[in-house]
Amino acid sequence: MKKLFAALAVSAMFSLAVATPSAEDALKMLKEGNERMVSGKMIHPNSDAARRTLAATSDQGQFAYATILSCSDSRVPAEYIFDAGVMDLFVIRVAGNVADTDEIGTIEYGIAHVNTPVVVIMGHSGCGAVKAVTAATQGHGHALEYNIPPLVDNIGPAVERAIHEHKDAAGTAVVPFAIEENVWQSVSDLFTKSAAARRLALEGKIKVVGALYDIGTGNVNWLPEEKVTKLLSAAEANPKKQTKEFAGEPTKDAKTHH
Ligand SMILES: [Zn+2]
Repeated sequence: MKKLFAALAVSAMFSLAVATPSAEDALKMLKEGNERMVSGKMIHPNSDAARRTLAATSDQGQFAYATILSCSDSRVPAEYIFDAGVMDLFVIRVAGNVADTDEIGTIEYGIAHVNTPVVVIMGHSGCGAVKAVTAATQGHGHALEYNIPPLVDNIGPAVERAIHEHKDAAGTAVVPFAIEENVWQSVSDLFTKSAAARRLALEGKIKVVGALYDIGTGNVNWLPEEKVTKLLSAAEANPKKQTKEFAGEPTKDAKTHH
C-alpha cells in the first residue's frame, strides 16, 4: 500500500510539473513569441504530430497558457502573432473584439475551466468594425446586415468616448483612439458582466491585459496594466454589475424572500 501511495504521490508531482505557468511567465511567453514573429525568428513550437497526439490524450487545462479575445480580421491570426502552437492559446475571435454574452461566456470557460492565468483583450490597427461604428456615429454610416448592429453596439460607447476626448481628431483621425478605447470597453464589459472574472482577478489568480496589434509591423503593444486595475475597481463599484458567479444561483433578493 505504501508503495502504491508513493507511486500516486510521484504521479501527482508529475502532474504538478506540467501545470500552466504563472501570469507573469505566460505574459513573458506571449511577448517573446511576438518578438520572434516580428524579427523573423519564429520557431513554430508545439506544432508537430507528437503535440497533436498529446493534445488528443491530455486536458488542455494543463497546457494552454492564455485566453485571447481578438478580432476575426484575417490579418490578426493569434497563434501566428504569438508564435504559438496547438494547445497553447484559448482564442475567441469576433468582429471588433467585442465582449458580449457569448464572448464573456467563452472567456469564463477559459479562466475557470481551461485555467489560463492570463486574458489578453487585443484590438488592432485598421479595425473595420471600429471604423464602421465611427463612421455611423459621425453621421455617415451605411446600411448594415440584419445581425450586425447587435454585434457592434458594444463598440458605440468606445467611439463616443474617443470623439469626446479627442475633439481635435476629425473624421477618420479619431479611429486609432476609438480602437484603443474599444479594448478598454471590452475589459470593462468583461469585468461588469462576469463575477467570475472579477473574483479571479481580485484574488490574483488571473491577470487581464489590454493590447493593440499593429497589422503592418506585427508588433503587439501592451497597454498600461494600471488602467485594467482602474476598470476592475470601477466594475466592482458599479451597482449594475452582475453579482452571480454561477448560472442558476439565486439572487440575494430571492434568498431573503424564502
Ligand atoms: Zn477588426
